[in-house]
Amino acid sequence: MEKFDLIIIGAGTAGCLAAYSAAKNGLNKIALIDRKRKEQIGKKICGDGIGTKHLTFLQEIGFPINESNIITNSIKTAHIISPDYEKNYTLPVEGQLTIINRHKFGQILLNETLNEGVKLFDKTSFREVEVKNNVAKAKFLEKGNEILNLEAPLLVDASGINSKIREGSSFFDESAELKDDEQYYCYREINHIENPPEHYVDSAIFEFSYNLTKGGYKWFFSRGNNEFNIGAGVPKAWIDEVSPKLVYQNDMSSRFDQPKVMDAGGGFVPTRHPIPSHVKDNIVLIGDAGLIVNPLHGGGLSPSLASGYMIGKIAANLIPNEALSENDLWIFNKKIHERYGLRYSILDLYRILLQNISDNELNHALKEEYLPLGSIFYAREYDILMKLSRKLGEVWKDIPNERFSALPKFIENVHDVTNRYPESPEELSDWATEYNDIYSKYQSLISIRN
Ligand SMILES: Cc1cc2nc3c(=O)[nH]c(=O)nc-3n(C[C@H](O)[C@H](O)[C@H](O)COP(=O)(O)OP(=O)(O)OC[C@H]3O[C@@H](n4cnc5c(N)ncnc54)[C@H](O)[C@@H]3O)c2cc1C
Repeated sequence: MEKFDLIIIGAGTAGCLAAYSAAKNGLNKIALIDRKRKEQIGKKICGDGIGTKHLTFLQEIGFPINESNIITNSIKTAHIISPDYEKNYTLPVEGQLTIINRHKFGQILLNETLNEGVKLFDKTSFREVEVKNNVAKAKFLEKGNEILNLEAPLLVDASGINSKIREGSSFFDESAELKDDEQYYCYREINHIENPPEHYVDSAIFEFSYNLTKGGYKWFFSRGNNEFNIGAGVPKAWIDEVSPKLVYQNDMSSRFDQPKVMDAGGGFVPTRHPIPSHVKDNIVLIGDAGLIVNPLHGGGLSPSLASGYMIGKIAANLIPNEALSENDLWIFNKKIHERYGLRYSILDLYRILLQNISDNELNHALKEEYLPLGSIFYAREYDILMKLSRKLGEVWKDIPNERFSALPKFIENVHDVTNRYPESPEELSDWATEYNDIYSKYQSLISIRN
């Protein structure tokens, strides 16, 4: 049993930042575990889109990253397109949104983290963890067959969407479960397109459609040099009936003249409201493992970096004091809730709306501008989103369509409940029931499958 100050499962964006900031803030013995081979870490099927301010954030915290090494293209305009293609919200985003080389980004994050003295166990898979006497004792499978036992006062799970600790263990209850309509299965390709239509160049395009993607989305991101990251996501609840790969082939790649495939594959994206708590005694969930993502589109690079950075600092502070109970770690919940929870909780109601609105209804709402998706997407601060939602709520309450007329009440409910986030674990259970109920009720009220 090798002893560490901190064990981190997963060397993705969240895990690397957690290890990096813990090391920078004074922890010496940090184990970073990943099931992949070192050289493959960071390689992930992704849209590769990230706000420039998150790269600036890395520089501000002293992370040695040179943007020119990772950015493949700067996006000039973002577009949100209605199902009938009649409405195109165009948002000028020059200087705000970039497409990166995901693998290179991941390798830089990893290598700079290892330069801080963090010990990497690659080709090592997490199996199980037991918490006893304020110590997390974890079991891994190394290089395919050898059992590796590690222990530390804190274990951070950054293992992505399929976290074995969030689900399938006794640490977290059903309030942290990811349901089938709260995750999208995505198929995406990177293509070289010799003569791309002008409006795809330097653009990030999102298209929504119930008919094609059941409220999921299609995206076209321009990577520069006539390369495009193109994909479609469909709620997991629908994948027996709707294949995102077929949507891709029939509706998306067919728009281009002889696209040359450079890379292809699939992956799951979580898209739900934040889980009520990310901490237990001696255990924390971050990044996709903690489902800290924008529920409208599953964008999770920025919250994975930020949640990693936050827990690294908190860990460096608490571990020397041997204060790692659920109560001690509650500060992480509070910070995540403040930074992401409030806004993402509101956005999840819009995600439920998009998954339950027919193409005709959505065309009408976008054309008549009572669902300004562009403004909702880019309301980056909680206060701005709330102000916008309340203004829209005044219009929706008179619309003879329950999907809209009921929404203001649910937005106010979420606003009320999230502004009463528990101060301690004792209050969590009742709060979580009240919080999750709001989404179940809105979902069952407006379900298009009824
Ligand atoms: C198709 C697709 C498109 C996306 N597009 C975008 C986008 O354009 N912009 C954006 O911001 N976000 C996007 N996302 C989401 C983004 O990729 C994730 O939110 C982000 O990668 C989360 O980082 P993470 O470190 O939490 O998890 P991950 O990046 O998933 O890293 C988890 C790490 O844990 C390791 N691991 C897993 N299980 C184990 C185990 N049992 N033992 C040991 N190691 C393990 C994995 O090998 C991996 O290295 C997209 C996701 C998908 C699937």
